[in-house]
Order: sequence, then structure tokens, then C-alpha cells
Amino acid sequence: MAIKLYNTLTKQKENFVPLNGNEVRIYSCGPTVYSFAHIGNFRTYVFVDNLRRILEYNGYTLKHVMNITDVGHLESDSDEGEDKMEKAARKENKSPYEIAKFYTEAFFKDMDKLNIERPEIIAKATEHIEDMLEFAKEIVKNGYGYETSTAIYFDVSKLDKYPVLSNRNIEDQIAGARVDVDPEKRNPYDFAIWIKAPENHIMKWESPWGLSYPGWHLECSAMSRKYLGEVFDIHTGGVDHIPTHHENEIAQSKGAFGKIPAKTWMHVEFLQVDGGKMSKSLGNVYTITQLEEKGIEALAYKLFCYTAHYRTKLNFTFEGAMASQKALNRLRESYIKHLGGNEDIDETIIEEYKQKFLEAVNDDLNLPLAMGIVWEIARNEKKSKKFAEVLLDFDRILGLDLKNSNKYLEKNMQIPEEIAELLEKRKIAREEKNWALSDEIRDEIKQRGYIVKDTKDGVSIEKI
Ligand code: AMP
Ligand code: ZN
Repeated sequence: MAIKLYNTLTKQKENFVPLNGNEVRIYSCGPTVYSFAHIGNFRTYVFVDNLRRILEYNGYTLKHVMNITDVGHLESDSDEGEDKMEKAARKENKSPYEIAKFYTEAFFKDMDKLNIERPEIIAKATEHIEDMLEFAKEIVKNGYGYETSTAIYFDVSKLDKYPVLSNRNIEDQIAGARVDVDPEKRNPYDFAIWIKAPENHIMKWESPWGLSYPGWHLECSAMSRKYLGEVFDIHTGGVDHIPTHHENEIAQSKGAFGKIPAKTWMHVEFLQVDGGKMSKSLGNVYTITQLEEKGIEALAYKLFCYTAHYRTKLNFTFEGAMASQKALNRLRESYIKHLGGNEDIDETIIEEYKQKFLEAVNDDLNLPLAMGIVWEIARNEKKSKKFAEVLLDFDRILGLDLKNSNKYLEKNMQIPEEIAELLEKRKIAREEKNWALSDEIRDEIKQRGYIVKDTKDGVSIEKI
């Protein structure tokens, strides 16, 4: 079945065909590791996980690169302010490398909690300085770059067309632009590919332009070309990347080798909080840990992301996330009930569900529609192992770790202490193969209102 993906570059849904046989090459802009990633960032990575899993489900193999930005991302995306890493380092009295290591580890801990698949290649900017420098030199050699006293700028006026990705009208923007920071820029929308390091700058490298460091946009251009070649299949990021970061990546690739680096550009709409922007000053920037503290699992947040299509804004509220937590537990319970069911279901019904599910996810990742089918199966009155199998099959895309439903339910269930103690005693009895005692304890638990079931995935407990 064809996969349709919306391409920001052409502004339409297109049938997806990989450039290189069965392999799909993807580049995803990764985190800037100067603080904890927030749930808005993770909406974008949940989307990337869905994309990966859908392509895999359809039989493709992946070569997926994600960068870790540990240098060069200034406070504003358009070359203004301090390097985010250095600012955090100063604030926390650590080296930028320590900051990067700490927040990179924290990022992947959250990614694991969200059951997000790891890209095949994770590339740190600071480990690719040589590649970036080569890229910058090519741009300059081809006449697209020029030096000022503070940086090497990309001259956008040299391009046949700029912008190509966003709808922004450059003339309007130039007219409305703020008084420029660097008066040596030839055009207001020229951007830095390489930045000369001020005296007190910590991260800096030798270059033909003295001690300096790469611009943020250049890192993605250099690392994507290194691992995926000049033109690859899909480039992903949040919508905030469209007008500046991705626009500038395209400009750089055109400057270096005359091509737009990716065929399909995909962008995730923003997660909002209480109907508005998530921002530190409003105190509404939440992390996965903060959600967990309120009893919302990372996986429940993932399910929450499926309540809206990735190209529409999603409004986060704690009530909404709590509803997703309850829904997730219900889905797990339904899965377990189906697993224990013996009804025979006609194969054509199963095939119809599979077909509908695949149609939904292959239609530009329509997860809300796909979830409707999941719930139809989950709620089916007929309890059947076949339905459990279908749910597990769909979970290859949903990534909700349904196969471990029991484990999560046990953890989530607030069982009284005395029942927990009895369960522990029964566990010991079973380890000692004292089946009589184990049955006796099970009956006692039943008298107190709970049913214990032993499945191949472990013990499950349900309220009568
Ligand atoms: P950053 O670490 O700031 O470079 O951002 C990492 C990723 O998260 C980028 O792809 C951003 O576009 C994306 N992003 C940032 N804020 C949000 C948000 N509120 N909703 C969805 N994605 C976001
Ligand atoms: Zn990027």
C-alpha cells in the first residue's frame, strides 16, 4: 500500500518512494542539550518514532541520523545572543561538555521511557567540526560566503531563490527587519555559517578565520551529507524550523553542491499549553519527570500525542493527559482480557481491521484515525486471542509497549498493603513449588475482593 506524506517543500501530500531501493534515509534535527527537553520537544520525537515505525511496518529498512546540538545554537535561531551551551555552562558553573553530557543522558532516558526507537546514527556536533569546516570552505569557495570582522556569512542574494520552504515574503521581511546586529552583513537575511569566537568563548577551533566555531545550521548540513549523502529521503523537525533553520540548511547545500538536500521535508505543529505558548517565563514548560510526578506515565503522554494529527496544534492540559493515562490503562486491560479470551474471530474481520489501520497510518500518519480502530478492537465484546495479536501487531507502530501491559497495570494499581503482602507470600510459595499454599493464598486474596491470574507474562491482579 502506498504511503502518503505531506511535504512542506511542495505543500502537498505525496506518494512516498525512497530514492534508493528499499532503504529510507532520514535526518532529524535533534535536541540542543543545554537543559531538559520538554514535552513539546517530545511531541516532535514521538512523531519521528511513528514515522520510523510506519516505514518499518511497510517493510523498509532505515538509515536514520539524529544530531545532538552541543555547540553553535545561539539564543535566537537567527544568529543573535549567546551560545545556549555556554550560557548554561556559566549558569551551572560547569564546562559546556559536562552540560552536554548530563542533558544528553537525560534526553535519552526520557526517550526510552517514551519507548522511542533510537536512530541508527546519533551524531554530536562537537565530534564533526572537521566536516563542518570543509562544508563552510566549499560554500566560500563557490562564492556564497563572505567574511566580516565577526563571522563568515552566507550571502542569500547569490541564490536563485530564497526562501524556498517557507511562504515568507523576503521583501516584506527586509522592510520590517529590526536594525541589524551586524552592520557588515550584505543582506539582512544573510546568516552565519561560521562564527569568530570572542575572547572568553570556551568552545572554539582553529580555522582559516582564526579561533571560531560553527553555526547551528551548518552542523545539520554537514552531518546529513556525511552519513546520508547529498540528497536523502526525509528531513524532520518542528514547525519553528521551517523559516530559518531548514531554510538555511537548504541554502547551504545549494551553496556547497547545488542541491536541496532532502526530497521530503516534514514538520510537526507545536504543542501548546492551556491554549497558549509554552514558555519558561509563564512557568508552563513541563518535562516528562514533572508529568510522572503527577501520576502521568511517559507512555500516557505518547498516547496523548495521538489525540491530534501531527500537523495540527495540540493543546496540553493536565486533565487531558490524565484522561490519556486512564485510557492507556483501559487499553492494557482490554489487551489482557483479549489475551485470555477464546472466541473464534473470522479472519476476514481481522484483515479488514488491519487494512483500515494501515490505510490510516499510511495516510500521512493519521494516528487519531488509527486509534479509533484500535479502540474498536479493544472494546469488542468478543474476547479473543486473535484481537490481542492484532493489538500487538498495531503496537509495532504505536510503540506503547502493550506486551508488558501486566507489568504496568500491577505498578499502577493501588492495591492495599495486605493484598500486596499476600501476593509476595504467594510468590515465595510458588518459587518453592508449594502449589497448595499458593492456591490457598489465591483463595484468600479472592475473599478479599481480588482475582489473581497467572499468565505467561507474569501475575495479573484484578478487582472483582
Ligand atoms: P531544540 O532542542 O530547541 O532544538 O528543539 C528540539 C525539537 O523540538 C525541534 O525539532 C523543535 O522544532 C521541536 N519543538 C520545540 N518546541 C516545540 C513544541 N512546543 N511543540 C513541538 N515541537 C517543538
Ligand atoms: Zn537541524
